[in-house]
Amino acid sequence: MNTLTGILEHGAPDRPALIVPDGPTWTYTALKREVARIADTLAGLGVERKDRVALVLPNGAEAILCFLGAAAVATAAPLNPAYTEDEFRFYLEDTGAHVMLVPAGGAEAARAALGDRGVLVEVSVVGDGEVRLTSTSMVDPKRRSSAATPEDVALILHTSGTTSRPKRVPLTHANLCRSLDNIVETYALTAEDVSLCVMPLFHVHGLVASTLSTFNSGGAVVAPPRFNPLRFWPVVERYGATWYSAVPTMHQLLLSRLREDERPAGAENLRFVRSCSSALPPEVMLQLEQRLGVPVLEAYGMTEASHQMSSNPLPPSERRPGTVGCGTGVEVGIMDEAGTLLAPREVGEVVIRGENVTHGYENNPEANASSFTHGWFRTGDQGRLDDGYLTILGRLKELINRGGEKISPREIDETLLSHPAVAEAVSFGSPHPMWGEEVAAAVVLAGEATSAELQRFCKERLADFKCPSKIHIVESIPRTATGKVQRRHVAAAFGERR
Ligand code: AMP
Repeated sequence: MNTLTGILEHGAPDRPALIVPDGPTWTYTALKREVARIADTLAGLGVERKDRVALVLPNGAEAILCFLGAAAVATAAPLNPAYTEDEFRFYLEDTGAHVMLVPAGGAEAARAALGDRGVLVEVSVVGDGEVRLTSTSMVDPKRRSSAATPEDVALILHTSGTTSRPKRVPLTHANLCRSLDNIVETYALTAEDVSLCVMPLFHVHGLVASTLSTFNSGGAVVAPPRFNPLRFWPVVERYGATWYSAVPTMHQLLLSRLREDERPAGAENLRFVRSCSSALPPEVMLQLEQRLGVPVLEAYGMTEASHQMSSNPLPPSERRPGTVGCGTGVEVGIMDEAGTLLAPREVGEVVIRGENVTHGYENNPEANASSFTHGWFRTGDQGRLDDGYLTILGRLKELINRGGEKISPREIDETLLSHPAVAEAVSFGSPHPMWGEEVAAAVVLAGEATSAELQRFCKERLADFKCPSKIHIVESIPRTATGKVQRRHVAAAFGERR
């Protein structure tokens, strides 16, 4: 059956499915039992199929188990635990979630944002892997959930858009299962594979690539609470990881910690390493390959595509550094503005088509009209195809990609503009050696303020990763001949200045 509960049947009952380093291990039987228990508890709390269950959980087993449990009865809406109270309020309201799962301690901002607008459920793991959900609301044990169907929405995520308002992306069980099959096929994953999940589980990269695709092949997922470069290789070695997926920033961090000519212990078990979510510099790829002695495969993913769209293939097929490889069960084309598909080697917008692609943004006809052309989804990325290998050349959409975290510059502009001393604000991505890009802004003042003050102002309102690391106080914002502000011109004018 093409549902997320269905894929758990792919694992042999006694094989490990989920492992927490220095913590419990769940076999497929135990995993299914806990997921069913979570689903029943949520149903007992009155959660129904069309409801949204917000998940504000740190990385780890709870986040994975609760995601599967929530997706089995309703729609799971994982949120970044780093959001501020205002951001949580926005996301809870926007998704319409009335039930929120949090860890037994912490998540204060999320709790404050929920207030008495919904049911708070605390999650903890007790003993050797029993997931306990506690809530002040009564659980009616007679209420049971109905099984999800492939067309039910399993997951709802937000993507930063060209407006400051993020767009809601619904992904059905069928969308996700197709993506999981594509990923299994791309990397020839089997029940023998062990994946180390170091990517956030509120994003498709961690959830779909590192975790669910491994369940889909009956393998095991190792889920530490966070990415810790100091503990990385010991965990790889101890649990016999056969692959991991990460953003280029993490690969660079790992690389920078390796001693000259050192092959880290544990690397001998790896079959390959995957990189996705922002551009992997070819020299980083080649150095990693040399050090680890395994192929490093760059892939291209996107929330709207249930993550993976293309990837460099495993040997003996050729991998081409600087490209994101070939479509993986997804049709990839290049289109001009008028909607005509272009010939190989011509540059245009990357478009995709496949069963993994969302049916459309929720309640957003305008975004849907501009994002779908003749059945193709417009990614907003600019690229070129050579012999089926895709090169990403730039972005048509307004987004800052900070080490894989996507930030809408409009949201930062609006936050800065809400400060009484700010007359104009334009934020942009500024090159950064580790993150690829970081957030910077140019501001024209109408009153008294320093850039440090404005940074503090942002910190109170925005999650840390979105806060500008540089704010340039300027006399005026450069404009085009027709009076328009173009972020790339502003970035060119101020981006490199300290
Ligand atoms: P997200 O929805 O957060 O996964 O972000 C999707 C966007 O990340 C894509 O539209 C690209 O702009 C960017 N992206 C993903 N993978 C790559 C890659 N390998 N190289 C360059 N950009 C990438």
